[in-house]
Amino acid sequence: MYFYGISGSNKIGGSSYFVKLGDRKFLLDMGLDPNLPGVYPKYENLYRKKLLTSMGDLDGVIISHAHLDHIGSLPYILKEGEKVPVITSKATKVLGKALLLSAPKESDDYIEIFKKDEIEKVFSLISPKENMVAQDYEINLYDSGHILGSKMVEIVTKDERVLYTGDFSLKNIITAKKMPLASIKSPDVLLCEGTNLTKNMNSYINERLGFIRYANKVVAKGVLLVPAFALGRTQEVVCLLKNAMKSQLLKRVPIYVDGLSVEISQLYNELGVGVLDEEVKIATNRFYETMDDSPKIIICSSGMLLKNSKSYLYAQKVLKNENNSVTFVGYQDKRTPGFKLLYENSFNFKATVNRFSFSAHGDEKEIFQLIDRLKPKKVVFLHRNLKEQEERELEKRLTKIYGKNMQFYFPKDGEELNL
Ligand SMILES: [Zn+2]
Ligand SMILES: [Zn+2]
Repeated sequence: MYFYGISGSNKIGGSSYFVKLGDRKFLLDMGLDPNLPGVYPKYENLYRKKLLTSMGDLDGVIISHAHLDHIGSLPYILKEGEKVPVITSKATKVLGKALLLSAPKESDDYIEIFKKDEIEKVFSLISPKENMVAQDYEINLYDSGHILGSKMVEIVTKDERVLYTGDFSLKNIITAKKMPLASIKSPDVLLCEGTNLTKNMNSYINERLGFIRYANKVVAKGVLLVPAFALGRTQEVVCLLKNAMKSQLLKRVPIYVDGLSVEISQLYNELGVGVLDEEVKIATNRFYETMDDSPKIIICSSGMLLKNSKSYLYAQKVLKNENNSVTFVGYQDKRTPGFKLLYENSFNFKATVNRFSFSAHGDEKEIFQLIDRLKPKKVVFLHRNLKEQEERELEKRLTKIYGKNMQFYFPKDGEELNL
């Protein structure tokens, strides 16, 4: 197979990879990089390198899941590629559309690159499917345990079997289906995400229990504000809190959801994952305006307290009282108010600020486990943020385990591989 990493190989953001098996040409994901507002991956390089004459030459585009770094530039396919089949799950279609349409609402520096009618059009062309059998190839999607609807992508021809993990986790995430690891066949090439490569995260259960215990302490007296990403993290935290209340690990207090988190949670409900119910209320404008410091939990996007977001507005109120807490549950980019509040002491506040790790990406242990179970001949690490030294050390360790039976690749953006 031939691989060309357009974007998102040695960085996290704007994932899009071109692969060719025999004569068949596919794009795996079409994302946006949140750090490059208004810029999509350099698809024109596909023409420059004569891999395509137009997007219409593609045999398919396969979207692993609805996070913007994987789906955000999908409307680009409308440039002469309207007839190219887009293969993705139903949940990714529904959630991805909502996210693309709402992205400008909660971003400091979002620059519109696709118009509303382009977004609506591209999603209207998708009929979700989880497998596709053509004359000389087959595509299968498998749950990847990352967010609702997230999938791994398998492409099989008579000569080759390729598996692209998308973003994945082997943990038991409440709101995502677990990966059916036992039923996935060993691929020739594994294209593997590496967000948490070389990281060993705290025990998943301990981290969650720690969060619940801490939440219980805060709501004995005050307000707990949890800034959370609208898609995935909000719903996971809400379900975790509800479960903890049910099993009496957490005092029953009102839970409110606000911001873009509301719209996405409503879609989760429609897709069969119960997030909003009589216990979890949608915050109204009146609620925000009249809010006091009585015990309650507010889960609200954005996860990094971006300036135009609801979580930023709530934080202004919550931070004023020493009984309250602002508790983060996700990654903070260095330039965001969330990072500044957590690590730079540049705010004046009385409340407590805290953070717990809820990563929905496999850590090093999980990535090794996946490789060991699948025993591919070749592993290509993508969606990674490592120093070259770290990559060399990792390769050494893996080669020590698997010897000559497995080869490892760490391509940079714009690099091609003949595998
Ligand atoms: Zn993701
Ligand atoms: Zn991602």
